[in-house]
Amino acid sequence: MDCEDCGSLLRAPGTSSNAVHSSIVPIAEVRIDDLRYLRLLMNTLSMIPNSGRPIQSLTTIKLRKKGSLPGLVGLTRYQMQEYRTGGRNRDAPSSRHIITFYSSLLEQLSDDSVKAVMAHELAHAWLNEHIGPEASIRREEDADILAEMWGFGKELAALAEETEPISATPPH
Ligand SMILES: [Zn+2]
Repeated sequence: MDCEDCGSLLRAPGTSSNAVHSSIVPIAEVRIDDLRYLRLLMNTLSMIPNSGRPIQSLTTIKLRKKGSLPGLVGLTRYQMQEYRTGGRNRDAPSSRHIITFYSSLLEQLSDDSVKAVMAHELAHAWLNEHIGPEASIRREEDADILAEMWGFGKELAALAEETEPISATPPH
């Protein structure tokens, strides 16, 4: 049982909590019990080239069964706590990202597609921290472009193959 709103997690016995250290994510708590997704996350993190601009604000990466929205595979949440002094610096230590992956849908995808989902969510967090959430109007495209620049072209293609795009207009 866990709380959707505060993101708190009631741990089952034997649940492990790890920290990751990589060039892109210097330190984040990882709450992923399933070895498949833990391995795929480590693979994904190790594939991202070191640009010297890590995601400092990413504090937590977790895995849950399913989200509150149908069809959700991953979610990047950006929490910025307001300063009373009106600080607008998005690199302030009080801002943080939490990435959640949802296993009920990920388990239908191949390893490559899961890595594409993970790279996409990490790209959202990177863009929010270094470019700014308000600077991008095509957030989904931008995240995919960055993930492709990181070297996930093959994985993104696999994901596109295994999922159906939502068409804006109904078919005739
Ligand atoms: Zn996205």
